[in-house]
Amino acid sequence: MAVEGGSLKIAAMTTSSSSQNAAGASALPRIAVLATGGTIAGSAPDAANTAGYQAGVIGVAQLLAAVPGLDAVAQIHAEQVASVDSKDMSFALWTTLAQRVNALLADDDIDGVVITHGTDTLEETAYLLHLTVKSAKPVILTAAMRPASALSADGPLNLLNAVTVAASGAAAGQGVLVAFNNRMHCARDVAKISTYAVDAFQSPEIGALGWVQDGRVDFQRRALRPHTLDTPFAVVDDAAQWPQVDIVTSYAGVSRIAVDALVSAGVRGIVVAGTGNGSIHATLQQALADAAAQGVAVVRASRVGSGHVMHNGAAKDDALGFVSAGTLSPYKARVLLMLALAAGNTQKDALQRVFDTY
Ligand code: ASP
Repeated sequence: MAVEGGSLKIAAMTTSSSSQNAAGASALPRIAVLATGGTIAGSAPDAANTAGYQAGVIGVAQLLAAVPGLDAVAQIHAEQVASVDSKDMSFALWTTLAQRVNALLADDDIDGVVITHGTDTLEETAYLLHLTVKSAKPVILTAAMRPASALSADGPLNLLNAVTVAASGAAAGQGVLVAFNNRMHCARDVAKISTYAVDAFQSPEIGALGWVQDGRVDFQRRALRPHTLDTPFAVVDDAAQWPQVDIVTSYAGVSRIAVDALVSAGVRGIVVAGTGNGSIHATLQQALADAAAQGVAVVRASRVGSGHVMHNGAAKDDALGFVSAGTLSPYKARVLLMLALAAGNTQKDALQRVFDTY
């Protein structure tokens, strides 16, 4: 299968599984593997190179071929949905991916979906799908920190583990999961926490849902917040119609320039990555209160990376017109705010209920 290097390639291409030849393959779960690019599909000129490589250049057939034993786990239906470095994730690809996942899961011949993705924005895509997939079948994202060409590439084992989780049946009804470095994380909680380490994903404060190792899927707990079938959210069909929501950060000496520019540009929402418990420098807080007074949805999150932002805690949310993000990171708060705005929730109290629920 040929895939042109880093360019966005949305047309679905299919490849049939060699697993049909494996003994008993017809009894195995049927898992769709959707490849989107990333380091897991990356290639470097030499095997010692783990940083200066090109992401998203290896096709899904080659990714699967590098995973011995996959035939014994599932019947694979593979599609190359895109070939991007996930730093360049777009609304158009989000829409295409979510629609393809929903279509596959509605097919009686598919038991679950695995998505290979870049690590940079994996947590955003995972949470988007967690809120917009309309199925109880398993959806598992995975990725790699080392390119496919590297010594000790982590992609093949991560992919085997992701398919193992999807095929196990244990992930059904648990929303979208991320299988990475032997752990299974809830899409809502997981975050990339290292720029280079193979153990790059954690669910800060809360922890992983369980482990997958040597073919064994071991869930220790379930996430409680509603997801997938139990949300009113859907991806926006027309990529140009996604509500514009941007993120600003509070720090020493911050100005109001960015907020005023965003308001002038007509954004629908602003997420602020506050200090500590979502506290905001007085200058920025005044700019955001002015924005909220003009009808811009303002959501207060924290730049800290773990913990929660308490409503009416570090800032007087109700008085200033702000919504608090709870435990969502600024990046995930932005995803939820876009979906909530697209679903018609524009008033502060309705948005706060959304953030308190999902
Ligand atoms: N820049 C890459 C990506 O997100 C990083 C990775 O996959 O690890 O596509």
